Formats: sequence, structure tokens, C-alpha cells
Amino acid sequence: MTLKKNLSQYFGYDTFKEGQEKIITAAINGQDVLGIMPTGGGKSLCYQLPATLLPGITLVISPLISLMKDQVDALGEMGIASTFLNSSLDDTTYQERLKKIRANHYKLLYIAPERLCAPAFVDLVRELSVSLVAVDEAHCISQWGHDFRPHYREIPAFINNISPRPVVAAYTATATKKVIQEIKALLALKEPVESIIGFDRPNLLYQVVKTGDKLGYLKNTITQTFPDQSGIIYCATRKTVESVTAKLNSLGFLAGAYHGGMSPEAREQNQQDFINDRLHLMVATNAFGMGINKPDVRFIIHYNMPQNMEAYYQEAGRGGRDGEPSHCTILYSPADIVKQKQLIQLNQTSPERETLLFENLQYLVDYCHTNDCLRKSILQYFGETADFERCGNCGNCLDQSEMVDITLDAQKILSCIYRMKNRFGLNMVIAVLRGSKNKKVLELGFDKLSTYGILQDQSAESLREIIMTLVAKGYLVVTADEYPVLKLTAAAGGILNGQKRVFHKKHLLNIKAAKAKTSGKAKPPLDCDEALFEELRSLRRRIAQEKGLPPYVIFPDAALKEMAAYFPRTEAEFLKINGVGQARYEHYGAVFIEAISSFADHNPITIRPRPIAAVDDTEARVYMRQRGESEAKLPSWELSYDLFAGGMTIADIAKQRDLTETSIVNHLIRCDQEGKAIDWSDFVDDQKEMAIINAIGTVGLEALRPIKEALPESYSYNDIKIVIHKNDLQ
Ligand code: ADP
Ligand code: ZN
Repeated sequence: MTLKKNLSQYFGYDTFKEGQEKIITAAINGQDVLGIMPTGGGKSLCYQLPATLLPGITLVISPLISLMKDQVDALGEMGIASTFLNSSLDDTTYQERLKKIRANHYKLLYIAPERLCAPAFVDLVRELSVSLVAVDEAHCISQWGHDFRPHYREIPAFINNISPRPVVAAYTATATKKVIQEIKALLALKEPVESIIGFDRPNLLYQVVKTGDKLGYLKNTITQTFPDQSGIIYCATRKTVESVTAKLNSLGFLAGAYHGGMSPEAREQNQQDFINDRLHLMVATNAFGMGINKPDVRFIIHYNMPQNMEAYYQEAGRGGRDGEPSHCTILYSPADIVKQKQLIQLNQTSPERETLLFENLQYLVDYCHTNDCLRKSILQYFGETADFERCGNCGNCLDQSEMVDITLDAQKILSCIYRMKNRFGLNMVIAVLRGSKNKKVLELGFDKLSTYGILQDQSAESLREIIMTLVAKGYLVVTADEYPVLKLTAAAGGILNGQKRVFHKKHLLNIKAAKAKTSGKAKPPLDCDEALFEELRSLRRRIAQEKGLPPYVIFPDAALKEMAAYFPRTEAEFLKINGVGQARYEHYGAVFIEAISSFADHNPITIRPRPIAAVDDTEARVYMRQRGESEAKLPSWELSYDLFAGGMTIADIAKQRDLTETSIVNHLIRCDQEGKAIDWSDFVDDQKEMAIINAIGTVGLEALRPIKEALPESYSYNDIKIVIHKNDLQ
């Protein structure tokens, strides 16, 4: 009971996020815990809430100095006394803090790992009653992680010196098995209670944009999709950072630069301006990021290709830490890949490492060319199995563009590479296919090949796109010999002998950015009054400036959105807003209520209904049933899905609902498009699927009837529809 009371009183929340309650309860009951949760999963609450309930002090070990100050500020706003000790403090402040710590003034003390074994600190801790030691970013203890901090190795000895042994809690977003094992072993966690939440970040919309006009794309995104919001633009080099910043500034945007060639002061200034919303855009090399905890970054654009998937996931992961919808976009250009490959070769590491680097890069190149779900591709890279086929919230899942059969072109390309003896790179292959008179082509006698000029009607750009797609689909590999060489794989045989067909999205070379929206597992964006939201944001910015705090410390974006949706104008209503606890209400309630009231007096307003509190729609449905509300209000396709998820066959569902089987198939397809998990292989086996794909290859996709006629009797229209949908052919 007190748990829920404190959750609401201090933090302003009524419910826990996935995985929180289990480890919070365990920690309070004296058990060690391990929380593996993605960024934005709500790890801080897992030690902050226990700290308010445990008798002694909670020590939080964190590697990020800038983050400590933010957290302490935010806790102060919530009415929880906390402080930090690190090297940024002058001596007087330090001594004062020590005094207050000794006087048991604080519930939480943040410390940098460097302090742990300083004798003065060890003495101090002896005098305290320590209830909990929380190790944030616990992967820093592991050499296998990307972020090893030698001082983290001193934590176990430090804990051993505390008597009685406090509860030890470790938290990280890194989920590799090796790292998790090391954390458990090195910290000597005692039978820890674990919450391991998937790696996925459902609120991030991943997309790859192929555009010749990167700056134009930036301009559109900044003005149309995310006006006045925070975004990071990652570039490969300092020079690009400088030029993109200059261009954005000349267009009137508030952009700052960040790279290793700038003075530390200039960098720090820009970082602070970005955190405090004085700059909206940060244009940066990969030097920018560690220690950035700004939660409301709405878009991360990679102006150039990142180096590999790990780096990409880290950098993209800096978007949307507050759980609100955010976009992660790669602006793809083939020239960037060439640049990255040259960089790898220039670095002259060992041959094994070089192969690894090429492989890593290749995965990212494949990611840029796949037609499959991008989220799924990311999860697979990190060894997680996705529980969906299409997430419904990435560039590919949202892209409705037509699929075309490119088998014939693929055959021409593959046989050309075969005739060139698998010994040449992309540009040479394209030159031969297009019948170039290039000196080298003629010298090597490639103009005598039967495939010379066989695709001369195609642009080099589109051939490149098709070839890279063949690589992504595994029919070709790019090997890292002296220079990158295209080679056929065994799978290419199936294409050449006509047994397999290849389809590809008719690539709009410039995919339009999808409007911020989420679906699948992500919570839907809250519909709110945009004008009021903007007013509340500027009010928040003014208060933040006066107090010298980052705006999100006052209220998170999500809380402002709720205010702009529900128009709370009394204390009770205001406290219902998620993220508004007692202390924040007392500090800011009056000003915000006044702003909302005044807005409501001068504008026509629509107060949005509160959604039914629900973790997922199953709960919502139960709730509706309990309230006697008709289920018929649910879309028909969801009702079919419910029955399907309950184990019924399509035929049974059709019978029960008195609908045709075709309608049920259409319902399930619709649900699949909306991100609900459906395993289509239950319906059509591989052999049938292959036969249907072959039939489509012969008669085309214009109408279903000819396909049906090209197949044996036992194949139904529904089988055909399912295969078309499953393979994303339309
Ligand atoms: P992490 O450290 O795991 O990246 P944070 O602790 O910063 O995540 O939390 C991410 C966001 O989720 C923050 O904006 C936080 O206020 C919010 N949050 C945490 N717990 C809850 C909860 N129980 N209900 C609603 N929002 C929460
Ligand atoms: Zn997807």
C-alpha cells in the first residue's frame, strides 16, 4: 500500500511499467535485484522508489556526472532529498554536503565510481546506515561491454566493507548474455530477483531514406514533422558537421555543432544549450552522446551511414527516452559505404578484425536494402527473436509502395557477375551491364561477354539498388578481398534456373517520412490540443530558465500532453496527470492551472476522454465487458483476432461469427498489418507457398483468378491471399 502511495505521491504515477514492481518489491524486502530494461524502460524508479521506503540511505553508483545532477534536480522537484558527490564540486560545497549526509538529511546519494575507494569516503560510509547500493549502468563492470570502466571493478570490495551487507541492485540496458553473467558474478549478486525486459524500443520509428537531397529532407523534417522540437543529426566527419550546421543556421534553425575538434568549452556550451532547449538541433560526430540524458529528443537523423549496427543502435537509442514517439532515420547514400570501407582499410587492423568490420558494415548495408521489417532486423542482429513479423511502425512496414518482380533483371545481373568470374566490384559490374566503353572494361575484353550492355536502359543508381538488394537477400556477397568484390552464393542458383523469384519495392527513391505515429506494441500517441501544448511548453521553458533547470525536470512532455488533452483545472484533476506528484503540484500546479484556465476561456476547447486504463487491449476488453459495454464497439477484425488467438481455426471462427472464411482471412491480414502477431506458416505449408509463388511468377499479380487456375484444385483463394500478404507481394 505504501508502495503505491509513494509512487503516486512523489512520482505522480498510478501504475508501474513492465518489470518495475517485481524488482522494487524484492529490493524493499531485502533481496538483491537485477533489472535489464531498455533505455526509457524506467530503471531510475526501481531504486528511487525503494529509497523513499527503506530506513537508511540508498547509494547510487553512476558513471555519468552530468546525469547525476539532473537526477538530483528532478528528485528535488519531487520532494525527495538527494545529493551527489563527484569531482565537479568545490571544497566548501563538498564539506557542506558531507555534513548533511552525516546528519541523515538525504534519502539518496549519487557517487561516481572513482570515489568509492577514497579513504575519506570509506570512512564516511562506515558512519552511515546503508540500505541499498544501486549500480546504474552495471554493464560498465564488464570487459565484454562497449563501455568498460575499470573503477567499476572496485564496487564489490566497496560493498564488502559495508556492514551489515546492504541490498545490491544492478541495472543496465545492455542485454548480451555474456555481460549479464559477468555483472552477476562480479557484483556477487545473491540469488537476485530479475526483471529482463526485451531490448525493443517500440516508440522509435526506424526508417531508411534514399534521397539525393539530404539537406532538403532535413529541412522538411524539421519544419513539418518536428517543428521546434529537439533532434540530433549525426555526421561522419567534422567537416560535414561544420557545413551542415552552417547551412541549417543560414536557414534560420537553432543548430549547434559538436565534434572532437572543438574546444571543450565550446562543446560543453552547445551541449548545455541543447539540454536546456536553447538550441533545438545538435549536429555532431559520434563524439556526442555519452552522458546525454535528454529524454525528449524527437528525432535522430544519420546524415551519413553509421559504422555498424551496435553504433547505430546506441546513437538512435538516444531518441525518445521519455517513451514518446520519435524517429530514427538513416539518410542512405552508397558513397557513404565506400567511405566507410576505405576507412576500415586505412586503419590497417588485423585481417580477422578487418573481416569482422566488413561483416558488421555489411549488416547495416543489408538493413538499408531490406524490404523486411526494420525493427525485426535490428532485434535479430542482437540475437533476440521478435514476436512479430511486421512491427507496423518502421519505414518498411509503413511503406505501401508496390512490389515488382525483378527476377529477370536479377538473372541478367547474376549471370554477368558469373561471367566476370566473381572477381569484380559493384562499379565494374554496373559498367559492364550498361555497356560502358570504359578503358578497363575494353582491356579486360568484357565487351565480348553476352551480358555486356544487357541492362543499358537502366540507370546506374537503380542497378546499384537491385544489386544491393540481391546482397541483402543473400544471392550475392560482398567479400573484402583487396577491394570489395561481388560473388554469387549457392542460393543464386535458384534464381538463375528460374526456381526462385525476387521481388522488390518499386523504390520511390525518396521515401516520404511517415508522420510520427506508433502502433504495434507502442502506445498510441495521445491526441491533444496542439496550441495549448505549445503554450505549456513555453511556460515550462520560462520556469526552467528562471530556475536554471532543464525543462524536462519540471514536467516531462507526456505530462504536458495529458494537460493539453484533459484540461485539468482543479487540484484533484491536476494530480491525476501522469507524472504529477504532490511536490510538483505544489511548485507548479497553480501556474499551470492558470494557463490552462485562461486558454480555455479564450479558445473553443475539446476535453478528450481519458482512455480506459489498460496495459494491453485484452485488459481493456475485460474492463468493457465488466462495465456491460457492448463488445460490438470493438472493430470486427479484432474480435476475429481474439478468437484466433484463443486457438480457433479460420473455419471455426467463420462459423461462430457467421461470416465467410475470406472475411476472417481479411481480418487477420488487417491485424497483422496493425502489428498483432500472426504465424502464417500455420495456414500454408512451404511446399504450397512455393507453388503459389511460382504461379504468380508465371501469370502475374493483376488478378487472383489466373493464379488460382494455374494451381491444383486443392489450392484456395485464401491460400493465395495469405501467401501474397505473407511475402509482402502487394
Ligand atoms: P531508463 O533509466 O530506464 O532509461 P528512466 O528511468 O529515465 O528510464 O525513465 C524513462 C521515462 O519513463 C521517464 O520519463 C520516467 O519519468 C518514466 N517513468 C518511469 N516509471 C514510470 C511509471 N511507472 N509510469 C509512467 N512513467 C514512468
Ligand atoms: Zn517494422
